[in-house]
Amino acid sequence: MNILLLGPQGSGKGTQAKRISAEYGVPHISTGDMLREAIAAGTELGRQVRPILDQGELVPDDLMVSLIRERLSREDTANGFVLDGFPRTIAQAEALDAMLREMGRELTIVFELQLSDEACMKRLLRRAQLEGRSDDTPEAIRNRLERYHRETEPVIEHYRATGNLVGIHADRSIAEVFSEIQEALDHLSVRAR
Ligand code: AMP
Repeated sequence: MNILLLGPQGSGKGTQAKRISAEYGVPHISTGDMLREAIAAGTELGRQVRPILDQGELVPDDLMVSLIRERLSREDTANGFVLDGFPRTIAQAEALDAMLREMGRELTIVFELQLSDEACMKRLLRRAQLEGRSDDTPEAIRNRLERYHRETEPVIEHYRATGNLVGIHADRSIAEVFSEIQEALDHLSVRAR
């Protein structure tokens, strides 16, 4: 099961991806977590991307594509994955499609977690207080939401056109959102039988 989660920052992608990963036994691949780990470990990649993350900008496509290519080549993804935070641009989406085609795989389902900017802003400001993420300042949040509309929304249209996009109303509890995701995934596995 190759699952992609799309949605603005604060829509609950990370939380839902973790639950999907635990329930269905597929690894959670979060590009944001991978980059934050590189920063924490002080690697060359971490040094390179730190100022980009702090300002809420996007890391260059070629760097992200090679990071994902390496990650998807690992054996733990053989039975599937849940991808969170990638692709964020049309160039990344096209690179992912090509990569999967090369591997003889395809995305089983693409979820779009739908949440208004106001609700995202509220959740992210709360996360800033709880977790102290350095890119959860009001200015960086505004920048990320603006970038989402400009650069990532076309990715949603891209997957709507391929026909496996499922919209999920995300302004609800974690359990409610997860049960709708589960319903869609269980429906898929019934169809596949
Ligand atoms: P996230 O945890 O998904 O919100 O990602 C945190 C930050 O990492 C983003 O604001 C970007 O600076 C960077 N980032 C994560 N994934 C990508 C991506 N696919 N393309 C470009 N930048 C990314």
